[in-house]
Amino acid sequence: MDCLFCKIAAGEIPSSKVYEDELVYAFKDIEPQAPVHVLVIPKEHIQSAAAITSENSGVVARIFEVISKLAVEMGLDNGFRVVSNVGESAGQSVRHLHFHVLGGRDMTWPPG
Ligand code: 5GP
Ligand code: ZN
Repeated sequence: MDCLFCKIAAGEIPSSKVYEDELVYAFKDIEPQAPVHVLVIPKEHIQSAAAITSENSGVVARIFEVISKLAVEMGLDNGFRVVSNVGESAGQSVRHLHFHVLGGRDMTWPPG
């Protein structure tokens, strides 16, 4: 399958890795929108948060465990934001499930 994030998770395309286990890969976003901007992805291909089912949701639980550990490691004590864009209206540009972890600055709400 021709998927950028599958290739990044497999190490076929280089990335700045911040975490890896048998299910999950996390790396720095190439175009950071905050002082800390990490993407956390399942190694298996899932199209988006709209494709999460009872069969594949275990990895999503793991992803959120990883996010909470990384937030401590990255010193995000003041708070952070977790975002997953789904589909065209939300601006999902890579069709492999990913969670943006953004921190290190104040965030506005609502998002644009
Ligand atoms: P989306 O727009 O789908 O929510 O998020 C995709 C994210 O992937 C964007 O923030 C974009 O900067 C990031 N991105 C796209 N291509 C690459 C890449 O080759 N390497 C890394 N590290 N990030 C990428
Ligand atoms: Zn993929």
